[in-house]
Amino acid sequence: MSPAPRYVSTRGQSPAVPFATALLDGLAPDGGLYVPDHVPALPADWRDAPTLPALASRVLTPWLGDWLAPDTLGALVDDALSFPIPLVSLEGPWEGVRVLELFHGPTLSFKDVGARTMARLTAAALGDETLTVLVATSGDTGSAVADGFAGQPGVRVVLLYPNGQVSPVQERQLIVERPGVQALAVEGTFDDCQRLVKAAFAEPPQDGVRLSSANSISVGRLLPQMLYYPWALAQSGLEDAVFCVPSGNLGNLTAGVLANLAGLPVRRFVAAHNRNRFFPRNLSGRVEPFPPSVSTLSNAMDVGAPSNFERLQILLPGPALAERVWGTSVDDAATLGTMRAVHDATGYVADPHTAVGLEGIRRYREHTGDPTPAIVLSTAHPAKFPEAVQEALGVTPPTPDALAALEGRPTRVETIAPTLDALRRFL
Ligand SMILES: *Cc1c(COP(=O)(O)O)cnc(C)c1O
Repeated sequence: MSPAPRYVSTRGQSPAVPFATALLDGLAPDGGLYVPDHVPALPADWRDAPTLPALASRVLTPWLGDWLAPDTLGALVDDALSFPIPLVSLEGPWEGVRVLELFHGPTLSFKDVGARTMARLTAAALGDETLTVLVATSGDTGSAVADGFAGQPGVRVVLLYPNGQVSPVQERQLIVERPGVQALAVEGTFDDCQRLVKAAFAEPPQDGVRLSSANSISVGRLLPQMLYYPWALAQSGLEDAVFCVPSGNLGNLTAGVLANLAGLPVRRFVAAHNRNRFFPRNLSGRVEPFPPSVSTLSNAMDVGAPSNFERLQILLPGPALAERVWGTSVDDAATLGTMRAVHDATGYVADPHTAVGLEGIRRYREHTGDPTPAIVLSTAHPAKFPEAVQEALGVTPPTPDALAALEGRPTRVETIAPTLDALRRFL
């Protein structure tokens, strides 16, 4: 096995560090994002892993080196990945399209995969130290991180979300009281929340508080997110597939690109955005000025300036980006129309984010004529978006146990102005 990567900054002004350091730092000291200095090969036996945790150990080991003993890593991913990730085949006009349901974890979005794994890796890396995890969320990150980290020894979580811009269900998931977690409703947009997090990192508090981040900028979430691509392909029995990724901050897409560079056969990626049309706009690699984010039904993807683009530009330089990735932008009307069309034709109930992906793959197939079987990442449970499901289908999805259990639990949240001073009081 080749030596594990060291992690270097996208901005090139920070020293190369081992995984555990990159994990606890979050951002590199120069403000860049950590990327591996080389991509280790996917183990040859990836198709034969009997369970998701077994695959996780195989996929992650080359990236972590000998930092964790095999048994320690095995127990950690067993605990983190304790829920199923089924692959569902659609029929009729959607024949050849499979949906990878990543939303069966405790907070009902794909973010449980990365956040739960990251939380346990972080606790392992901390030893006796303490850490404050600072996280900006446009909806699902905050609850996954809060749930994933709550009660982990030595960790405090401060989460920021844009006040009034997440759904009622999402908000309840964010603000239920959890040990070691403080929720902050910021009077601003998601981009303001992200700006505050970056500002806090640029000027960390003096009194020895160690800050880290759990956005998809963290390698601790990014690497576990590679898992679902080989998992889906192994389950499908397909040689290769087009992967369609409903995209916001481009964490999932970047993880898929890493898996692909590590040797996973992927025909092409489709980045399906909502009206925040980052791709197709910037596929040439030449970046146009980022417009501010706009609010949509698929609000966890309302990102104007995706952080992970900085990584993609390094991983897929020049023309490689447009060769590997096709992009499209799906507005709210098309999102609702797709939810309806898929339900009418197949009975499948998709949430708005997944619907953006389904419409993305439909357009890709129509535009390119590429008949390769497709796998659409389904990023959230439809019950997280009952208003949109009601509007599109005229029915309300049944409430899963994980949500019903939140009713009546005590909540804790503070509203703050979108300034660093306001945030400081909570660090
Ligand atoms: C976070 C999120 C996305 C966007 O994922 P990125 O990795 O940030 O591109 C899409 N759908 C849902 C439901 C999400 O929570």
